[in-house]
Amino acid sequence: MTTFDTSDVSSSAHSCDTLIRNVFLVDGSGNDPVVADVAIAGGRIAAIGALGDWQAQQVMDGTGKVLSPGFIDVHTHDDTNVIRMPDMFPKLSQGVTTVVVGNCGISASPVTLKGDPPDPMNLLGQSTAFSYPTFASYVAAIGAARPSVNVAALVGHTALRSNHMDRLDRAASDAEIVGMREQLTEALEHGALGLSTGLAYGNAINAPTGEVLALAEPLAEYGAMYATHLRSEFADILVAMDEAFRIGKHARVPVVISHLKCAGVENWGRSSEVLAALEQAEKHQHVGCDCYPYTASSSTLDLKQVTDTYPIQVTWSEPHPEQGGKLLSEIADAGRRGVPLHGRRRRQSHPEPSGHRDRFRWTAE
Ligand SMILES: [Zn+2]
Repeated sequence: MTTFDTSDVSSSAHSCDTLIRNVFLVDGSGNDPVVADVAIAGGRIAAIGALGDWQAQQVMDGTGKVLSPGFIDVHTHDDTNVIRMPDMFPKLSQGVTTVVVGNCGISASPVTLKGDPPDPMNLLGQSTAFSYPTFASYVAAIGAARPSVNVAALVGHTALRSNHMDRLDRAASDAEIVGMREQLTEALEHGALGLSTGLAYGNAINAPTGEVLALAEPLAEYGAMYATHLRSEFADILVAMDEAFRIGKHARVPVVISHLKCAGVENWGRSSEVLAALEQAEKHQHVGCDCYPYTASSSTLDLKQVTDTYPIQVTWSEPHPEQGGKLLSEIADAGRRGVPLHGRRRRQSHPEPSGHRDRFRWTAE
């Protein structure tokens, strides 16, 4: 919400472009909602209150509706969507007016691919979607696309690794970290919000803490932050949180733990322990988290996470598109019965641990 005038405006005639009458107003301040009229002039809020004598070119009846500032979707993978589909209806229709992209170690920029995007960068699109070798070029593309939502971008650690390393199943060398830092610094100079990691994923899990510590050092100078998809959301979640806090402390920047959750049936019920650890860390440094508003989760297909303790649904598969929407257990049963999968490989029923494109989702029941 920008400027508005709450002074007594009822005594004199005013005009504005748009007048929303009798709306349930949640203004984002934390105050109790009120029913009010809202006047908009020149793209700004001109007045809020009982605006009975105001005139407007457009008058809207807000009875029974809620008016609030736009929502910020802090955890998205909309990096290329904001350019490919700038109307962004899926977000705008839910009231989202700002998206934070570049989460979980994967970002559309700065990226120079050598082939197919490494897992899970393929969530952002195929190789043709990655045409931003510098952050400045990404900023220019956003400027040209003029998406209907604001965009704030993180730079992904896995994206930087992919730019500088021949293999991602090892630690980066000192020289490679220098190269990654240079690209991160270029991005920060052009307005990047910070650095993200996805240390649980196969293409980042072999990055030791020291690699991220060194990479994160330029952040503070730019007032940037560190967001992380933890190395583990399963039994080792507290250890992974400690690693995140250590990185934030070393870099002297705020830490956001992405989609904080206790994953795996044997880990359910530990939320109070996890939140206590977050509150404890908060005494010494800036920490926060985001979380899903639903009891399910999605990821790329990873054998380490495959279990029969809850349903896993394959949402899409490039080699076997006909399996999209099916439960992994159904596909496995069909495989056992010898039902052909309309292809030579039966990848979903015997998934490889990483580096491919199937996705699955599991539901917490
Ligand atoms: Zn993630």
